[in-house]
Amino acid sequence: MSRSVRTFMLMGNKWKLRYVNTLGKDVWGDCDFETRTVRISRQYPKKGILEVIIHECMHGGSNDMLSEPFIDECAGDIAKLLTRMGYNNVEE
Ligand SMILES: [Zn+2]
Repeated sequence: MSRSVRTFMLMGNKWKLRYVNTLGKDVWGDCDFETRTVRISRQYPKKGILEVIIHECMHGGSNDMLSEPFIDECAGDIAKLLTRMGYNNVEE
């Protein structure tokens, strides 16, 4: 996984991906729907960044139509699968 990715397509829309120093206590990612930006906190342990990205993309891609518990469980399961398959490296 590379941090050089700055934009990506999500459900037919172009989104931005940004890493920020902090989003607040216990907040690891968020979606700005106006600017279509997924923001990821640099504070989050690298081990879990895959889950945060999947989680926020599910919020963004669904236009926030999915429930938090659903996204939490589904993003966690997808991240675990991808991690088992070896997709969990973040380049600095
Ligand atoms: Zn969420």
